[in-house]
Amino acid sequence: MCGIIGYIGNADKTKNVILDGLSRLEYRGYDSSGLAIINGSTTKLIKSKGKISNLLNHTKGVTLKGNLGIGHTRWATHGLPNKRNAHPHKAGSTSVVHNGIIENYIELKNQLLGEGTEFKSETDTEIIAHMVEREINKGSDFQSAVKETFKKIKGAYAAVLISEKYPDTIMAVK
Ligand code: GLU
Repeated sequence: MCGIIGYIGNADKTKNVILDGLSRLEYRGYDSSGLAIINGSTTKLIKSKGKISNLLNHTKGVTLKGNLGIGHTRWATHGLPNKRNAHPHKAGSTSVVHNGIIENYIELKNQLLGEGTEFKSETDTEIIAHMVEREINKGSDFQSAVKETFKKIKGAYAAVLISEKYPDTIMAVK
């Protein structure tokens, strides 16, 4: 279980909408939390171990402008509850927050490892970012890349994704 949120709209509101949303969702997970906001073609990623109050402290006074972003409060299922495993997970231009479990993630991770992909976390979630990024790099648009990726993923999940290459689009999957 975890809490996920995505926002697209007014660049001045993104940070607060995400942090307010995460505060309301805190009961769904408090191992760690994090957010990613896209401004132009760069992503600002901030993660904290522990309760949302830690993320609120880390983001206090930090200018986080950008008209779209995602946030997560984690209840770990795969990987220790630490900062490294906190969401969002990012690969290349793609960032993802995820609620649930990817049942076939070991098989998919092994395929990616075989292709030379380097992983930063122990989560099942990180494969999503790598798989979507790989599809985009092969020439798919964001929506097709997400669709193609989730055709291969088994399990019960919800996820929200953003890409630096599509700074006016947010994708949600369930
Ligand atoms: N399986 C993911 C993880 O362990 C998501 C857990 C959750 O739903 O909070 O990071």
